[in-house]
Amino acid sequence: MPPLSNLATRDVETLLHPYVNLASFRDNGPLIIERGQGVYVYDTDGKGYIEGMAGLWCTALGYGNEELVEAAATQMRKLSFAHLFSGRSHDPAIELADKLKEIAPVPISKTFFCNSGSEAVDTALKIALAYHNVRGEGARTRLIGRERGYHGVGFGGISVGGIVTNRKMFGTLLTGVDHLPATYSREHQAFTKGEPDWGAHLADELERIVALHDASTIAAVIVEPMAGSTGVLPAPKGYLKRLREITQKHGILLIFDEVITGYGRLGYAFAAERYGVLPDMITFAKGITNGAAPMGGVVVRDTIHDAFMSGPEHVVELTHGYTYSAHPLACAAALATLDIYRDEKLFERAKSLESKFADAAMTLKGEPNVLDIRTVGLTAGIDLASRPDLPGKRGFDALNSSFHDNDLMLRVAGDTLALTPPLIVSEDEIGEIVEKVAKVIRAVA
Ligand code: PLP
Repeated sequence: MPPLSNLATRDVETLLHPYVNLASFRDNGPLIIERGQGVYVYDTDGKGYIEGMAGLWCTALGYGNEELVEAAATQMRKLSFAHLFSGRSHDPAIELADKLKEIAPVPISKTFFCNSGSEAVDTALKIALAYHNVRGEGARTRLIGRERGYHGVGFGGISVGGIVTNRKMFGTLLTGVDHLPATYSREHQAFTKGEPDWGAHLADELERIVALHDASTIAAVIVEPMAGSTGVLPAPKGYLKRLREITQKHGILLIFDEVITGYGRLGYAFAAERYGVLPDMITFAKGITNGAAPMGGVVVRDTIHDAFMSGPEHVVELTHGYTYSAHPLACAAALATLDIYRDEKLFERAKSLESKFADAAMTLKGEPNVLDIRTVGLTAGIDLASRPDLPGKRGFDALNSSFHDNDLMLRVAGDTLALTPPLIVSEDEIGEIVEKVAKVIRAVA
């Protein structure tokens, strides 16, 4: 191993990174990215890497978009901080909420802003509990998530999330949480492009959970329309509709966590539109600002908002909020991002590239150790066989090979490789990404 650079040494000495193997990190150091342009990022030696992962599922416009930079800088000069507490507001927040109302696929009346996907999820869960409470159904305290779901790292998110490694270190989490089964079955779904035919019946498991706990104790169900972080698991055909029918029947709120699927990833502003299903709340983050400023949020249906409008006028109904809810910088970045999505028709572009992207990803079938490939929108998951007795090691090696030998930004979850290029990616660049992934897969055979 070559010695670490000065910057890398300082990083190892001072930073506690999220989600890395700390021991190997100490020896190998980080890959330090200095700048980005289009679908490429560049390290401190000037070496370029093609973005197979849109940052962390967020840089749909790629990097260095001048319109976005200008909008953010202008806002910083004009008003660098404002908040929405105690009856105050500001122009960029109002503009943005208005714009979201236009593009949200459901009769949604209000947006609550926060700073990340994790906060958005915790916010939605709290709103669900409070909603039932103000309506006199305070016994509805149970929250239902799904196995293999990822909803960020707050206590609410890891409680409803279905990833054991995210849960097991952190105590008892929220009580009264139950989980639907995951929607993935390799036996029935392997190498499917788009939504698998098999699996809608798994939504009926909610009936079993309702029978076990009684609907009067259940506040909400939260699912990702496409589970991203556990390896790109698209909802089976008809699954989300079924879930909507059952939740509606029992007065249970349905929350779609669209932190990944929002803003064009599946070819629509929100995946709810793709599936023709009307949830009660949608959480979002990431693509709203192209990752340029931290922002998350929850859009809620008018019925939820209206339920809170019952108390005396001096009493706060929803005791929840963040100092940086609707931060003006993030709002300005979001407004510019949404304008660019619209002007460059990027959601439509994702939709029209979907089948070409799927075809390209499927060419990896037959490469060594490839057990399954799933695609939906501009997203693909590729399962590799685990090394004997070492689950996750082949994925770990693949990540190193992609960074160090193939100039590719990739994401891995265990032994699954995930691809999520920026929405501006060209067909040639899709070809380049897939070619590099093939090299990575062969390198870790
Ligand atoms: N929800 C989903 C579906 C996600 O994919 C993520 C992050 O990947 C989150 C929530 C958490 O978002 P953040 O990392 O911004 O807290």
